[in-house]
Order: sequence, then C-alpha cells, then structure tokens
Amino acid sequence: MRVEVVGKGAVDLAGGSRYGDLVAQLGVPDVLAVAVGDRVLELFRPVEEGQVRLLTFADAQGRQVFRHTASHVLAQAVKRLYPKAQLAIGPATDEGFFYDILFPEPIGPGDLAAIEAEMAKVVAEDHPLRRDEVSRAQALADFERAGEPFKVHLIEALPEDALITTYNQGEFTDLCRGPHLPRTGLIKALRLTNVAGAYFRGDDQGPMLQRVYGTAFPSAAEMERHFFLIEEAKRRDHRKLGPELDLFSFHDVAPGFAFWHAKGLILYEALVGFSRSLQQPLGYQEVSTPWIFKTELWETSGHSAHFTDNMFLMESEGEAFGVKPMNCPGHCLLFAEATRSYRELPLKIAEYGPLTRRERSGTLHGLLRVRGMHQDDAHIFLASEQLGSVIEETLGLVDTVYATFQMPIEIHLSTRPPSRMGDDALWDQAEAALEAALGEERRAYVVDPGEGAFYGPKLDFVATDALGRRWQVATIQVDFQLPIRFELHYVDRDGKQKTPVMVHRAIMGSLERFIGVLVEHFAGAFPLWLAPVQVRLLPISEAERQAAGTVAKALREGGVRAEVDDRNEKIGYRIRAAEKEKIPYVAVIGQREVEAGTVAVRERGGKDLGTIAQGTFTRDLQERIASRWSGPSQLADTDGHGRA
Ligand SMILES: [Zn+2]
Ligand SMILES: [Zn+2]
Repeated sequence: MRVEVVGKGAVDLAGGSRYGDLVAQLGVPDVLAVAVGDRVLELFRPVEEGQVRLLTFADAQGRQVFRHTASHVLAQAVKRLYPKAQLAIGPATDEGFFYDILFPEPIGPGDLAAIEAEMAKVVAEDHPLRRDEVSRAQALADFERAGEPFKVHLIEALPEDALITTYNQGEFTDLCRGPHLPRTGLIKALRLTNVAGAYFRGDDQGPMLQRVYGTAFPSAAEMERHFFLIEEAKRRDHRKLGPELDLFSFHDVAPGFAFWHAKGLILYEALVGFSRSLQQPLGYQEVSTPWIFKTELWETSGHSAHFTDNMFLMESEGEAFGVKPMNCPGHCLLFAEATRSYRELPLKIAEYGPLTRRERSGTLHGLLRVRGMHQDDAHIFLASEQLGSVIEETLGLVDTVYATFQMPIEIHLSTRPPSRMGDDALWDQAEAALEAALGEERRAYVVDPGEGAFYGPKLDFVATDALGRRWQVATIQVDFQLPIRFELHYVDRDGKQKTPVMVHRAIMGSLERFIGVLVEHFAGAFPLWLAPVQVRLLPISEAERQAAGTVAKALREGGVRAEVDDRNEKIGYRIRAAEKEKIPYVAVIGQREVEAGTVAVRERGGKDLGTIAQGTFTRDLQERIASRWSGPSQLADTDGHGRA
C-alpha cells in the first residue's frame, strides 16, 4: 500500500504494516505517534488510508500523548503501592498531566517521592502498551472485579454503542480511549509536582478525590530547562520586580489601575516617545479625544450591543454615559468633523489617551490585565485601493518596534468568518491586500481561516520573550463597518462621495501590558535608552562629591538620566546597590579621575570598561541612547538556559 507522509512524500509499504514500521522505514527519530486527519493514532496501530503527520514532542499533540501515557505510569505505580486506591481520570494538561485518585487514606506531598520512585521502575521495566477493544459487559465485569467504581461509572455513562477500549502495560490495565506511547520506557524524565483535592466529574456531593499532578519529558535536560524557566519566570514576575525597582504599584482602592512612580513613568514616556518618533515621519496626526461619551455614541458604534459588559457606565443629570474602552468612535467623529477629500487620505489619527475596561476583579493580573490602560493606538482612514501600501507601512512599524526589543514576531492572518459584514468583493480585495503586503517582504505567516472579525480581516502578532513565552501584542484590523455606521465620506477624484475603509492598529498595544511584558522579558534590566536611571556616579570619598555632582549635571544637560550616590557607604556596597537596581552604568570618581577629568566606568553585569574621559563618556551614552542601542541588557544572562 502507499501512504502520503507530510514533509516526506509518498511511501510504499508492505500490506499489514503498522505506523511504527512506516517510521522505521523512513528512519525519522523521536516520533511518538501519528496524526491521520483529525485522529491521533499509536505507532502500533495498522496503517490506514489517509495522509499521515508524524508527531514528536515538539508537537502539542505529541506532548499530549507522551504526558497522558505518563499518567498511566502514575496509576500503575499507585496501584502497586496502594492496591486499594481507586482510579478516576488521568488526562494530559498543557504543562504535564494529572490523575484523580481516591486513596484508602489521603496522601500528602511527602508521599510523592515514593510514588515517583515506583514510576521510575515502571519506566525502567519498559512495558509495551497493548490496546484491546472490549464489550461493554466485559468492561463492566472487569472493572467491577478490579474494585474500580469510578471506571464503572465512566463506562455506564458511555453511549450504548460506544467503542470501549482498555490499555494494558505489564500487570496494569486501564480504561482509556488512547492514544498512548508504544512503550513506557520512552518517558526518560518525570516529576510529580503537587497533590490537591478534586471531585469526581466536578460533583461536590460525591467523594473527595486527590489529584496528583506531574510532568514528563523525553530527556532530563528538557525537564531541567522546564523547571529552570518556571523559576526564572517567578524571579522575573513584573508584579514583584515593579515595586522592587520602584516602577509602579497598585492600591486596593483602585483595582486594575496602576500608580506610575517617577521611574515607571520615565519608562512609560520613553515608549510613547519611541512610538511618536516612528509615527511622525509617516504623517500621523496625534489627537486627544474625550473619554466619557453619551450612550448614543456607543449605540452608533455598536459597542452598546456588543461591549457594554466591558464598559463602565454612569448617569449624570438623567443622562446615560459610558467611559471609552476604545478610541475608534471618537476618531470617527473627528473624521466626520470636516468635509474630507481623497487628497487627505490615508488620514492617520493617533492617540495615547486613557481607556477603561470593566474587567472582572478576579481576572485582574498586575499590569497584564488592567482596567485603566493607554494604547499606542491609531486609526487610518483610507481609500480601499490604498490598503496594500498602508498595511505595508504598518508592518514596517511592527518590525522596527519588535526588532528594537529583540523579540521575534509571529504573524497570524485571520480571514473572513462565516457571518460577516460587507461585500465579498471588498473582503477579496482586503484579504488580497494583506497577503500581498505580507508577501512583499516574504514574511512567514500563519493563516487562521474564518477567524477574522465580522467587520474585516486582521493581522495579529505574537511576540516571543527571552523565556520563550508567547505574548499576543500588535494588531492590524481592517474595518468596513464602522465608517458605514458613522456615515463617513470623502469626496473622491471624480467628485463623488465615497465611504472610506478604516484600519485599527496598535503596535505595542496596551502600554501597561507591554511594560509588564518588557519587565519580565528584560528581567528589569532595561536597555540603556529605557532605563529610568542610566548612570549612577559614585564619588569615592567626600573630596570627590562636588566633582561627581558636576559630572552628573553635565550628563543631565546632555539628556542622560544621571544621579549621584554619595551615601556614607563603602564604594563596593554602593556598586552592589546599583547592580541590584539594574542601572546600566556606574561611574566611579576618585582623586585620580578628578585630576584627569575622567570616570572609571562599570557596565551592568560587572564588566569593567576602564577610565574614560568625561566628555567621551557623555557622547558615547548620548549616541547609544539616540540609537536605542539594545545593550547592556540582561537578555544575555539567560543565554544557553532561558532562550528558546
Ligand atoms: Zn490513556
Ligand atoms: Zn480601533
């Protein structure tokens, strides 16, 4: 027989071959299972009709098979140690797996090591897994005899005609749909992480089970890296670093709204300044529009119908108002303020003003999920034939911004959903324009068919941070609908009135959230141009105090954020303090430096740059700040460990 294998082409196989034979014939290493259509199948299953995708641990489905099999290993180990334990369910999760179990006596975290050791034995014994199709009556009898009432419940809950399968490994058999690894020995590294309470099928009237959590990997090194990244993420948590570095804080009386401290506001303003510096040359006009509008505006914009749950609403003098969650309606009013000519298009309106969203208090999460935010938001009004050039220009902004932060970007193109607004001709044109703009620079992108908004197709951007975590950041959305709702027009070349197309775009997105991401990406060690304090001057003794003050003043006059630490502490102590505050440079001034007009410079991370003439030092810093030089940041710190 002949099957098509993704990435490998057609393969001829002997009749009766299994997927494992196919993999062996191809010589592809590390394959855990295969996907055929929307089904994932074990390597010991016979080859069927249909295109085959080989799954490894790098695939989400492959990981799921791997870790779900680890949950069987857990169950087998538990049954060896606690023969009276009753098993419920044991699925894979995003990060590992769990098994819900009723132990004869509740276990505690202290019992996990023994279970883990038994699991290691099951792995070392390298049991092959065997799949059996069984009749309902047989399955009920078997699991009743085995003293597994939860399994009996699960079988009884299956439809009459359901195919029932069991999986056997060594002395242990579990009720399961599969799929699994072919052998337990493939699980080279595993760890149990936690035990918590859980109810069978979430029924709090039923018995309280215990959920044992764990994770598993194909190698010890991969598992080590996983736990390193978890620890590193904790160390970098912006909710911890923000207050530690004196950037921002939150208060109980204003949930979801950040207090920007002086240093945090410097960071914030540096980002806004960066955004302005990119947009001004492209002819963006920055505006400021109201943040509270009468409800009738939200009716025109459609927010009343779709977004009121997310808005703060209020009443004054008998009239209903809403605080703006987005700038778009205000910008439409601005566009309609004057008779617009085709000559003004594309008209680019930018605003960094406050936006408010009524996020539920339980979902708030530091700066990553807030109620009060500011975006690097803009709306571009254009003639439909300008779409291609506008998208291309906007993609350029995304490239520049994320290259500056050293974050790789993944692009998603979401196309027309089944239920949508606007002519198909317009959709054709818009989707083609987006694809053409992406193709122009040969950017790699993923198409998410049918995932566009009802008002137009869109591009979403996912950035990867220094720990390999993915963050949804920029968005470029084409909108045919809002200009119609607001009855927007421009006078075209031929004197006729036409409806513009609108593009919503945010490059950094919510600045609050973006700063949260940056704090974690840089672990608080911001590149020079963003650092709230760029240089700290340290006079060695009382005698150099004045000289240090003079150098600091000159630096500040040159646009460098410099300050003096002349506390009565040893120089080593003050250097360590600056390091802890993640200040990019310290400049030490002793008697020799005063006489020579130099400073002794240390870079963050401990690198000694030697003595530098004061004027040269200032000029170097000015150049590096102006060019948004990306070092020195702590990104290099995690090289070989943290970088994906
Ligand atoms: Zn299973
Ligand atoms: Zn918008």
